[in-house]
Amino acid sequence: DEWPAKGEVTFESVSLSYDATLEPVVTDFNLHVHGGETIGLCGRTGSGKSSVTLSLFRINHICAGRILIDGLDISCISLHTLRSRLTVIPQDPVLFSGTLRFNLDTEGSSDDSAIWRVLEIVQMKAGVLDLPEKLDFVVTEGGENFSVGERQLLCIARAIMRDSRLLIMDEATASVDLRTDQVIQEVLRTQFTHSTVVIIAHRVSSILTCDKVVVLSAGKVLEVDTPYHL
Ligand code: ATP
Ligand code: MG
Repeated sequence: DEWPAKGEVTFESVSLSYDATLEPVVTDFNLHVHGGETIGLCGRTGSGKSSVTLSLFRINHICAGRILIDGLDISCISLHTLRSRLTVIPQDPVLFSGTLRFNLDTEGSSDDSAIWRVLEIVQMKAGVLDLPEKLDFVVTEGGENFSVGERQLLCIARAIMRDSRLLIMDEATASVDLRTDQVIQEVLRTQFTHSTVVIIAHRVSSILTCDKVVVLSAGKVLEVDTPYHL
């Protein structure tokens, strides 16, 4: 039950739609990501980047092709397993209603010292220490009391706690301050060296350190290359 140990992802001729009655938004998408690689996914707004990542959680509908993770077709894997083993950080993530402790350790399997250590890595320890309730602070309304960048950092912290081997980061398009953005990029680079990381990049700086960059256009792969060649 260590799946996915490698974090190898294969999209085989995948087409995606948001409803069986709607036209596909991604067609014939092919991509192979080796375990441990860092991939950048870019393309104009509406090109299908978020749709590709949401398909891993079966939020949209796979109308053709298949997606394999470590060789297993994800249509055969329970939603609970998918959502607890893979980490997809959306452009505007919502947090769980519950305490900060619960948000970082949903299984309740770690002690507080581990949670504090991870908060320190994402540079949110001082902020949480300032809250009177500390780890018992109750997150409300999906996390409205945290900024988009802080919510993304808390989701990254959760991925570190879970030792997620596959992390997909959908960068926020706006409203993340420079410092938070730098912390996010630094943590992705340093904490997930054994994991597969897919970064949906809205800024050129985020793809410079990727092994490979995939450019999407109108739901199709336009190019795959190293960041230097693009
Ligand atoms: P951005 O850079 O703006 O985040 P994107 O590349 O992530 O864009 P997607 O959000 O994947 O683009 O959108 C691809 C297509 O899917 C668009 O035509 C969009 O209108 C459509 N789409 C996205 N979400 C939904 C949804 N929930 N229901 C129906 N269609 C959707
Ligand atoms: Mg998007």
